[in-house]
Amino acid sequence: MRKEHFPDAARRSQRLRAVTVRGKIESEVIMRFSSLLIPVVLLTLTPAPAQAQAPKKLLAVGMSSGFQHDSVSDALSTLYQLGKETRLWDTWIRTDVELITKKDLKNNAKNLKFFDAVFFMTTGELPLDESQKADLMSYIKEDGKGFLGAHNATDTFYKWADFGEMIGGYFDGHPWNQFLATIAVTDRSTPITAHFPASFQVTDEIYQIRDFPKDKVRLLMTLDMSKVDRNAKGVKHDAVPITWTKEYGKGRVFYCGLGHRTEVWERKDVRLMWVEAVKWAMGAR
Ligand SMILES: [Zn+2]
Repeated sequence: MRKEHFPDAARRSQRLRAVTVRGKIESEVIMRFSSLLIPVVLLTLTPAPAQAQAPKKLLAVGMSSGFQHDSVSDALSTLYQLGKETRLWDTWIRTDVELITKKDLKNNAKNLKFFDAVFFMTTGELPLDESQKADLMSYIKEDGKGFLGAHNATDTFYKWADFGEMIGGYFDGHPWNQFLATIAVTDRSTPITAHFPASFQVTDEIYQIRDFPKDKVRLLMTLDMSKVDRNAKGVKHDAVPITWTKEYGKGRVFYCGLGHRTEVWERKDVRLMWVEAVKWAMGAR
């Protein structure tokens, strides 16, 4: 026991010396470059004057009562990251609907009154009771707050007609499944789509939409129907709207049907679209 103890102790003190020397060198390096580092750090941490106000607040809900999209995590984390990168909003990510209420909640839980907009990447009949439903609608319609939906958000609340009316329609099948879709950007006069070319391609699952209130929405993107097989099984519509904005009472609604595939959320053009969409939904002029 004793014999082994000494070599161990010697090795330990050698290691300690090495760490101390390395620590000393590192601190010298930091000291030497600190004069250079400080301005760089200040530069990155100082927000641009136009963005100096406190970040707004986004409630991002990813909940499925039906098909489980892998890309829900990508959607929620994208919205979170974009808010941080631009310093325009902070995101509360939830996979439940507890915060969708105007009632006071316990244990530091926030309610709708705390948020500037709500984002949905959801499926099916979510467990909202009648008072929560009324609160979400009045939050948008009367309080003038924002609502954003991605992809399967139109595959949500079929039994709640007000939701369909608010978002701008319901999922009505995806006859072409996942394919290289050509998207026509029909309106580029908003910052939401200004950076897109008139037409672009993306591999994704494209939804047909039913009950689409043509006259009540500003259509931004649609599927280029000249590039798809109109005889494919399940084709029901001559036009397939993909992205739109919509006024709902005093509130603002944005929907984009892209985002089934995880890598869609990595596209720079799609990410910039979401930044501008969140800004708009939160009241930007
Ligand atoms: Zn999908």
